[in-house]
Amino acid sequence: MFVMKFLNQMYSLKAYNTFGIDVNAKEFISVSSLPELQSVLEKYKHEDIFVLGGGSNMLLTQDIQKPVVHINLTGIQIVKQDKSHVWVEVQAGENWHQFVLWTLENDFGGIENLSLIPGNIGSAPIQNIGAYGVELKDVFDSCKAINIKTQEIKTFTLAECKFGYRESVFKSSEKDKYIILSVTLKLTKKDHKISTSYGVISNELQKMEIYNPTIQDISKAVIAIRQSKLPDPKEIGNSGSFFKNPVVTRKTFEKVQEQYPEMPFYEVSENEIKIPAGWLIETAGFKGKRFGDAGVHQKQALVLVNYGNATGKEIYDLAKTIQKTILDKFGIVIETEVNIVP
Ligand SMILES: Cc1cc2nc3c(=O)[nH]c(=O)nc-3n(C[C@H](O)[C@H](O)[C@H](O)COP(=O)(O)OP(=O)(O)OC[C@H]3O[C@@H](n4cnc5c(N)ncnc54)[C@H](O)[C@@H]3O)c2cc1C
Repeated sequence: MFVMKFLNQMYSLKAYNTFGIDVNAKEFISVSSLPELQSVLEKYKHEDIFVLGGGSNMLLTQDIQKPVVHINLTGIQIVKQDKSHVWVEVQAGENWHQFVLWTLENDFGGIENLSLIPGNIGSAPIQNIGAYGVELKDVFDSCKAINIKTQEIKTFTLAECKFGYRESVFKSSEKDKYIILSVTLKLTKKDHKISTSYGVISNELQKMEIYNPTIQDISKAVIAIRQSKLPDPKEIGNSGSFFKNPVVTRKTFEKVQEQYPEMPFYEVSENEIKIPAGWLIETAGFKGKRFGDAGVHQKQALVLVNYGNATGKEIYDLAKTIQKTILDKFGIVIETEVNIVP
């Protein structure tokens, strides 16, 4: 017999989203095992549910009328290994960064560049989390997910997840159809691939006087960089990068570059150029701007913040204003990375 946390009164989600938006859930259920989750899915089979992980990639704009199902499955298990690699299956409710620390303690390599990303393992495949030259897809083996309506459990391979830049099948054709139960990663046991392609990492390592870095050193450098430039949600509400970096055609890029020769860019392919959304937002004059309690972070124009009592609607309106200004000024559409919950 298991005990589930079922709360039927209006339940504040303020502590469950890193933006610190104070909206209520009509029903809140925290599940810690697969049988619990299955019984919840059975109970609500004729209703839509809302799936919540660590709440670090969502903007809640109003009270949630659907049952909120908080995924709290835990456990880390080595499922296979050979001479050079280890396959680790991690349950969806495990905290991402705590898991990164576990891999470092065990000297398993591959996700050190993804240190200190908030949120849970189960949400990592949704947007193929990435930072400092590494994405989840680089170490991803597979994930198990349960179909919300049929309760069929399916294993998604790397190819089936269709990972892209902050994209996956779970944000496109399979959106809202599955709950991810666990993720299996393939990590190195030796000959770790040290990824310092991002200049900031090599600069930080130099500062630390480390010239032959281990995976643990990379993690320390990443943590130091992130702590110096990203606001800590415990101090100021935010969801990390609010927008994705737009990828434009060479024609559009050249048109904008004529006017802004100093614009930074990164060539994705012959005809696809990625432009830092933070640069566009800063150039449009939004960096550090505050509108009531909603604002654009002072050091990171890509990060929208809640100074205390902003509503989700106020942050959303600010995001809309930024998007429109960027479109009018540069002719470029910037999409949100954060999931807007209407
Ligand atoms: C300060 C800060 C820095 C950040 N830096 C980065 C970064 O460098 N790189 C990066 O990629 N992201 C970054 N993020 C975004 C965020 O940390 C990641 O997207 C993370 O994976 C979200 O995890 P979560 O558990 O909090 O997801 P939630 O916010 O709870 O959920 C996100 C989405 O996934 C769905 N979901 C949650 N759990 C499951 C599940 N088990 N099955 C199916 N769907 C589910 C939710 O319904 C929602 O649509 C940052 C966020 C913050 C606040």
